[in-house]
Order: sequence, then structure tokens, then C-alpha cells
Amino acid sequence: MYRTDSVLSEAVGRHADPERFAEIDAELRLLGISAGSAQAQKWGEQANAHPPVLRTHDRYGHRIDEVEFHPAWHRLLGHAITAGLTDAWSRPDGHLRRAAGFLVWTQVEAGHGCPLSMTHAAVPALRTDPELAAEWEPRLGSHVYDPRLVPAGEKPGALFGMGMTEKQGGSDVRANTTRAVPLAEDGTYTLTGHKWFCSAPMSDGFLVLAQVDEGGRDRLTCFLVPRVLADGTRNVFAIQRLKDKLGNRSNASWRWSSPGRGPAGWARWGAVWRPSSRWWRPPGSTARWARRP
Ligand SMILES: Cc1cc2nc3c(=O)[nH]c(=O)nc-3n(C[C@H](O)[C@H](O)[C@H](O)COP(=O)(O)OP(=O)(O)OC[C@H]3O[C@@H](n4cnc5c(N)ncnc54)[C@H](O)[C@@H]3O)c2cc1C
Repeated sequence: MYRTDSVLSEAVGRHADPERFAEIDAELRLLGISAGSAQAQKWGEQANAHPPVLRTHDRYGHRIDEVEFHPAWHRLLGHAITAGLTDAWSRPDGHLRRAAGFLVWTQVEAGHGCPLSMTHAAVPALRTDPELAAEWEPRLGSHVYDPRLVPAGEKPGALFGMGMTEKQGGSDVRANTTRAVPLAEDGTYTLTGHKWFCSAPMSDGFLVLAQVDEGGRDRLTCFLVPRVLADGTRNVFAIQRLKDKLGNRSNASWRWSSPGRGPAGWARWGAVWRPSSRWWRPPGSTARWARRP
């Protein structure tokens, strides 16, 4: 899958630091052999033949909002993360390695490329806040896949998703109506709203867009929403349903909503920064999270 792709292997030869080329080339060659193996092809087939299943409640009727994936999905993600496909930002030639590795490995199965890409892409946004970057970046670039739904601080590696799209706000996210209201001095916010199309629901954290009132004017702001709070309780967001998509079937895409509690007090999420020309962060943000009252 790598050596037989002459355009890709020549491009790697052209752009890699000559001192590191042999190492990178060997890495990609191994990944290409894995991608072409009968085992990996089988994982790809299984992950699509057995799409993710939403479990909204446990057997006692408590909301759990978990999505169950076939073991093949976890094998694919695990293999990709071990190969460093979310680790572009901190190692030499990292972007070249990640981009070439991604092209090679996702030939096996495209859906799991989504959480890999979102995790990779979250890093520059996190870096606008050095405190957050120091906490999360090592987990995002980790070579260890840990699918457990436990606080990110207890995991050797973490994945990130993104909650931008709303029914009325797709390409134009300025139309988003999800609202964020400050909850505590430490920068924790409560977010209330409805997201229409989000992928990788079992991620450990999400970058979520919401409107903040600033002197009577709405300002679109980006928040870091951890899936599980530091005390082990789950942050509150209800998964309404999984999308029945035409492609990308192995990857769950879902709809979040307030669980019928009206507009006030749905979820309490940590505040972060603003994706506008003027990046902004509320003072002391993200120190802790709280759960729904
Ligand atoms: C597989 C999949 C996974 C996704 N995962 C996520 C996710 O994890 N998180 C998330 O937040 N979103 C996710 N999305 C949603 C995606 O980001 C939106 O679909 C995208 O932003 C486009 O928005 P829209 O679908 O509302 O289309 P619209 O914005 O309604 O656009 C419809 C059409 O109009 C065109 N158009 C729009 N504006 C203009 C303009 N100003 N000028 C010219 N043409 C224009 C578009 O090109 C498009 O052809 C996912 C989508 C898919 C298909």
C-alpha cells in the first residue's frame, strides 16, 4: 500500500529530512504491509458490516448515551494510533509522517479516519490556551489507544471530536444558537443547545461552538467539553440518534440535544476560547467541570 504507490513514496523521499528518510520510509513500509494484510482488510469489512449501535439507557433506565462499536473498529483505531497517526505536532517531520501514514492506512477503511483527523486537528486550537494544551496535547499525540469512558486524566491517550454543525448552521457556523452561560468564576460554563451532526461520540473531549453574550451582543466561542468529568461522572449531553448515512458507516455520527428539560440548564461544560479573528479566553477557564443539578 506504500511502496506500490509511487507518487506517495516519491513525495516522501522529496520532502523528508534526508537524515530521517530511511527511518520514515521503513515506518511507512511496515504500515503499508499492515494495510495490505488480509487481517486489516477483514477489520475494515467488519467495521462496515457491523455499524455502531447507540445505547441511550442502561438496564435500570439511567441515561448512559454510549455508542457500541464492533471490535474491528477498535482494532483499526488502535493500529492507527500506535502508528502515530495523531502525532504530528511534536516529532520531527511529524506532519509528513502523519499525512503519508494516513493516506496509506485509511485505504483499509475510511470511517475511522474521522476521529484520527479531528484529534490531530484539535491541537492548534488547544494551543491558543497554553494551560489546556499542556494538559491535553500529550494525550492527543499519544501512541496508545484507550477506548474506556473514564476521565481523560486517567488515560494514556485521548481522542477529540467537534460539535459545530446545527440544523441552521452548517457552513455558516455564525448561525449557531447553542448558548453558553458562565457557571462559576473558574471559567466553567453551562451550554444549552442542539447539535445536528457530530461524529465520534465516544471521544474524550469535544470542541463545541456556542454563543456567549458579550455586552448584549452574541460572540461565537469555542468550548472544550470533556466527555467524562474529573470526578468520573459523565458530562451531560443526550445522544438523540445516530445518523443513517450513505457512506462513512463504520463511524457514528449523531445528534445531541437537551434531554427535554427546557432551555435552562442542560449541560455544564468548561469554557475555552473563541474561533474568531480575535481569539479570546475567559479568565481562569476550564479549571473544573460540574454535572447537571
Ligand atoms: C460524514 C460527516 C461527518 C460530519 N461530522 C461532523 C462533526 O463531527 N462535527 C460537526 O460539527 N459537523 C460534522 N459534519 C457536518 C458538516 O460539517 C456540515 O455538513 C458542513 O459544515 C456543511 O454544512 P451543511 O451540511 O449544513 O450544508 P450547508 O451549509 O447547508 O451547505 C449546502 C450547500 O451549499 C453550499 N454553500 C454553503 N454556503 C455557501 C456559500 N456561502 N457560498 C456558496 N455555496 C455555499 C455548500 O457548499 C453545500 O453544497 C459532518 C458531516 C458529514 C457528511
